[in-house]
Amino acid sequence: MSDRTKKTLPCRYCKNEVEKGVKRCPHCGTLNPSMGVKQSLIWTVSAIVVLYAIGAAVRYFKQ
Ligand SMILES: [Zn+2]
Repeated sequence: MSDRTKKTLPCRYCKNEVEKGVKRCPHCGTLNPSMGVKQSLIWTVSAIVVLYAIGAAVRYFKQ
């Protein structure tokens, strides 16, 4: 049996150790504390791209 060690990462806001993948930091309450700034930026950008693509498609089909 493999002994899985819990992966901890520093919270991106308060820098306290948080378990990887937790929804909320137990120390400061930040959402997705293990998600890096770069990662959340990628998520935001891709969300904007998707919304823009949907908007463009709607405009195209309304013609
Ligand atoms: Zn925190």
